[in-house]
Amino acid sequence: MNTIGIDLGGTTIKLGLVRDHRLIGSKEILSDASKSLQAKLPEIAVAVDQLVEECLDGKAKPDAIGLAFPSIVDSKSMRVLLQYVKFADADELDLKSWVDQTWGVPFVLENDARAALLGEWQYGAGRGEENIVLCTIGTGFGSAVLIDGKVLRGAHFVAGNLGGHMVVNFKGDKCNCGGIGCLETEASSWVLESKCHNHPLINESSLSSLANINYRAIFDHAEAGDDLAIEIRENSITAWSAGIVNLVHAFDPDIVIIGGGVMRRGQLIIPSIQKHIDQHTWPPAGTYKIKLAHDFTNAGVMGMAYLARQAIV
Ligand SMILES: [Zn+2]
Repeated sequence: MNTIGIDLGGTTIKLGLVRDHRLIGSKEILSDASKSLQAKLPEIAVAVDQLVEECLDGKAKPDAIGLAFPSIVDSKSMRVLLQYVKFADADELDLKSWVDQTWGVPFVLENDARAALLGEWQYGAGRGEENIVLCTIGTGFGSAVLIDGKVLRGAHFVAGNLGGHMVVNFKGDKCNCGGIGCLETEASSWVLESKCHNHPLINESSLSSLANINYRAIFDHAEAGDDLAIEIRENSITAWSAGIVNLVHAFDPDIVIIGGGVMRRGQLIIPSIQKHIDQHTWPPAGTYKIKLAHDFTNAGVMGMAYLARQAIV
């Protein structure tokens, strides 16, 4: 069986062709968010067809296609429910009809964090587990939950997905979601610039000369001894840890898998979060294992190819 997984992100769109649970070909195209998703679909279709041509001798199409989208999605009607900052027309599109008219094969749509959860569960750090919380730390903080071997979706398809919008500081800043003191307002890439530039230490900090401040810069400058970078790094790790305390108290998993761009520094971050969780959760230390994602680059693609396979059998 040959299924296609597509992971649609804000910067790149990753595609993979999976045969019998093995990734046998992949492609990456730029998201080019100035375009609408409607205008991008023909390019995605070409990339799918190229993958099929390269990987499947003599076959014209895959057996099923799965697409992950970075927003809340209705995985029953296969519609995007909420607008994402990029591809703002996605909630108006009938992607199932697009796949049906282009290839005539089964289609599944899912939230991107759930896709990564499925990929890490089936092929990565979560193999053999039945209770997993997955967190992605990148531009924002995403999450998804597996309980008793079932992906949690809930009545409105948001269950487990809003880890970045749990309140960790009820006297905190206003969030872009309308909330106050969400985890993302304390520690995410999109608040770093304002956090640094509004800090009293900014004029003495080596960060002040940078055109853009991202987490790579925070970790680099912290390692070089910059006081502001050290404070932001430690505050961020503590905020993520506080969010994960909330998640494990809510969902009681065996393991927490963490991936995303910031986890390039996972060797430093994972032990700090593990220590915080061991010290500050209700169940005894050692109950919750914090793990680095195994292959986060391909987790979404593998998860969607797996889900597409389920749509056939
Ligand atoms: Zn929020």
